[in-house]
Amino acid sequence: MKLYNDKNCSWINDLDSRKNIKSLNLNQSCEWLIIGAGYTGLSAARKLGQLHPNHKILLVDAQLAGEGASSRNSGYLVDTTLNDGFTSIKELDSYKKKVDIYKLGIDVVKRFIKEYQVDCDWNECGKYFASSNKKDKKILENYSDILSKLGFEHNLLSNKELKRRLGTNFYNIALHTKGGILLHPGKLVRAMIDTLPENVDLYENSSLLKWKKINDAVICKFKNGAIKTKKIIFATNGFLKSLGVKSNYNFPITLTASMTRSLTDQEFKSIGEPKEWGVLPVRPLGATIRMTKDRRILIRNTAEVHNPFKMSKFELNKRSLKQKTGIKKRFPELPDDIIQSSWSGIVSRTRNGSQIFEKIDNNLYVAGCYNGSGIGVGSLFGEQIAIKASNENTKEIETIEARNKPTLLPPDPILSLGVRVRLIYERFRAKSEI
Ligand SMILES: Cc1cc2nc3c(=O)[nH]c(=O)nc-3n(C[C@H](O)[C@H](O)[C@H](O)COP(=O)(O)OP(=O)(O)OC[C@H]3O[C@@H](n4cnc5c(N)ncnc54)[C@H](O)[C@@H]3O)c2cc1C
Repeated sequence: MKLYNDKNCSWINDLDSRKNIKSLNLNQSCEWLIIGAGYTGLSAARKLGQLHPNHKILLVDAQLAGEGASSRNSGYLVDTTLNDGFTSIKELDSYKKKVDIYKLGIDVVKRFIKEYQVDCDWNECGKYFASSNKKDKKILENYSDILSKLGFEHNLLSNKELKRRLGTNFYNIALHTKGGILLHPGKLVRAMIDTLPENVDLYENSSLLKWKKINDAVICKFKNGAIKTKKIIFATNGFLKSLGVKSNYNFPITLTASMTRSLTDQEFKSIGEPKEWGVLPVRPLGATIRMTKDRRILIRNTAEVHNPFKMSKFELNKRSLKQKTGIKKRFPELPDDIIQSSWSGIVSRTRNGSQIFEKIDNNLYVAGCYNGSGIGVGSLFGEQIAIKASNENTKEIETIEARNKPTLLPPDPILSLGVRVRLIYERFRAKSEI
């Protein structure tokens, strides 16, 4: 299995290249093996390193650590979400359970950046759920009720104020939440790699091909070696299904995003010199769009069923074109060709929007499926699955496990057909917002 890394993600290109990259090229045995080095796997490794200073802990990734979705996302560390793409807020109680988890996720990331003095362009500027469609006012008013009941500070805004704050006339209605942080996802995940404990060995460009449980051990096969481990944590998120982990409960979705170059002084002036902001769509498949602190515009306006291992240059360019149109719609005064990079990333979804956090068998653990909240929730789940696998309990684990478990998915081809039809429907409903 070969994972595709297009080397064209601005967040990654902003960072210095890494040195001392090791790949697995001999057989090993260990107490702990973590597969996947994104926020989840890195946080699990950090926690295991602290809990078991004398154990051998291996962390293995198919590509360079952190360079999957953990570097390729939009950088919203969310305290609340309006939609998960597939579910709506049906009842207050289940929504509260979800946001309790978000809060814990924010706390974990906050603690991490404080402890290690991480600069990841952290900005507690909140976020907007915005729409150009005045009819969406009803959705935002309902949402406002829920946020009020749960004590989240927010306010509803209309076109004039939005134009002033965002520099675009596109949006007619929005709800701004005070909570929520914007950050540089590449810088955050890089810091997690740089601060791995000494007793964690990281192997990169080493894809897990097959695994098998034999008695109390798990045998994992890679191209150039095998690892025999006592305990394993699967932290591959969008690639859980391809490894046969909880396959009937999760499926991968491909998201594509683009980022412009920094706007020139003149261009920035032409849109009113707005401060950094982040907009999330009111309708599930609308665009996420963000103005970074260094005046770049990021847009993500596709979500689809696609081969998670490869997006060809041709296919990527088609999506980039959609993103160019999305930017043009919102900022007609800006030049046409300002997109500097486009990339895709893989996330994982469950049928009911719940996350996976489980012991799947003796010595086998898994955490994943966060929709658009993996920065915080992935960091939290990584730490907590390491604690659970160490046979300890915490209040955080209780909060995580208080949520509904993911529900069973239908088998393929019914599943992919169903997801495709649903995405077409959601795309249609969000068509003005793409
Ligand atoms: C375009 C985009 C925008 C997003 N926006 C946001 C956002 O604003 N806020 C937010 O919170 N979340 C967002 N997300 C989701 C977020 O990025 C993910 O939820 C998060 O990265 C999950 O972290 P993870 O560590 O579980 O998985 P990943 O970051 O996907 O890491 C999994 C790792 O497993 C490795 N792997 C896979 N298969 C194997 C194998 N066989 N052997 C070894 N290693 C393997 C991969 O190489 C990868 O590095 C977005 C995602 C995308 C793609």
